[in-house]
Amino acid sequence: MPRLIVVSNRVADIHSTGSASSGGLAMAMAGALKEEGGVWLGWSGNATDNGDGEPEFSTRDNVTLARIDLSRQHVEEYYNGYANRTLWPLFHHRTDLTAYEQSFRDSYLDVNRTFARAIRSFVKPDDVIWVQDYHLIPLGRELRALGVDNRIGFFLHIPWPARELFVTLPQHADLVWSLFGYDLVGFQTDKDLAAFRDYFHTELNAHPNEEGLIDMFGRRLLAKSYPISINPSEMVDLSQTEEASSSYRRIRKVNAGRKILLGVDRIDYSKGLLHKFAAYNRFLEEFPDRRGTATLLQIGQPSRDLVAEYQDLGEDLIAEAGRINGRFGRLDWTPLSYHTQSYGRDALAGIYRAAHACLVTPLRDGMNLVAKEFVAAQDPDDPGVLLLSRFAGAAEQMTEALLINPHDKEQCADAIAQALDMPRAERIERWKALDETISRSSLSAWKEQFMTDLRNLGDVNTPPSGNVFAF
Ligand code: UDP
Repeated sequence: MPRLIVVSNRVADIHSTGSASSGGLAMAMAGALKEEGGVWLGWSGNATDNGDGEPEFSTRDNVTLARIDLSRQHVEEYYNGYANRTLWPLFHHRTDLTAYEQSFRDSYLDVNRTFARAIRSFVKPDDVIWVQDYHLIPLGRELRALGVDNRIGFFLHIPWPARELFVTLPQHADLVWSLFGYDLVGFQTDKDLAAFRDYFHTELNAHPNEEGLIDMFGRRLLAKSYPISINPSEMVDLSQTEEASSSYRRIRKVNAGRKILLGVDRIDYSKGLLHKFAAYNRFLEEFPDRRGTATLLQIGQPSRDLVAEYQDLGEDLIAEAGRINGRFGRLDWTPLSYHTQSYGRDALAGIYRAAHACLVTPLRDGMNLVAKEFVAAQDPDDPGVLLLSRFAGAAEQMTEALLINPHDKEQCADAIAQALDMPRAERIERWKALDETISRSSLSAWKEQFMTDLRNLGDVNTPPSGNVFAF
């Protein structure tokens, strides 16, 4: 039976961690690998003095994890550099934070070539390769250049940028060309797909057909959207664990008599955390009679703290939370409870269920799984209200949430008041519709759909003009 080879920047240690601490995506990949048997390859997380290493393999049952150490320079320039300081900000439309450094790009290509060589050393003719995310865009092309002609798919977990911003990247054309190393490229939303197609129309005068097939550079690529989701039943199961009950009880007890507004975000400028705090500040200004009736509980999961912008944001958030508490707090009420801590997904399930509303305010986000997890964890008889930024990929599907523009403080403040006042019947009606949406598009269905399309492409990709990836 053909094996599945999953490639991502990091490999989750699925041989030793349980479902409560591993992310949903890691569990989905683990599930796919266990079903089909295969290999998961990525960076080990280690930085060495003496260059990139060979993969270290560890096998349990039919799944092998292959982890590669990277040199310190590559970690700095590929991971902290091109991935986190070039592609991440650019694809999130923060050209003001984007580093356009040739050395970052060089290391990015080096690491992709290291990964390609490692894969070539063990790939078998029938294996299907599935590459994940922006760290590895050129990997398909690098594999083709080494003569690997297996079926290869790529999924982008972050948004695809608007053309006007994307073309600020000096290597934009090369990056797009490199995508033709794949047979199938998946995006999170129709909006991302439209932005990708726009690049072809406008920059290349090329026109993908209705289905999303694009013939260029002697190859054929299928580009399609596959909105990622969660497995809702997993969240329901997690919400019944001891850890979930304990976090639920503690939060409800500390906030007895008050409503809980919840935020759960990585500390990242794309998440609109300062905008959320500003909206909450405006809510407290605008509705003085509401002071003391609700608390904003914001979990800030530490992230990329080696990058200066993330350190600055972390400090700004602590300062802003302090300002709001200093201005509005009373002896018996702390308006904003801000924790920079990471929680297991079982504890999170209880936290979601304890909240009366969840504020999801990204300025730009590929999907936002927190929004879906919050819905899945609710009590169907007394569900909380989801406030969701229209700029999250999830907003394309979750239209029964209170959709907000995080740049509009007044609108967000009114939406907070609306959520706190929302009658139970309306909460149930909205929740039911949202829950149906996430149940229809589970994570298993997402994986299945992508893999089925990848396998069923047929022999479309025999390049008419030979191997265009030869250097
Ligand atoms: N998460 C977690 N512990 C925390 C905070 C978040 O496990 O303390 C998980 C959360 O359950 C969700 C993921 O991190 O599955 C965040 O995914 P999302 O798509 O919302 O944002 P990302 O961080 O991937 O940009």
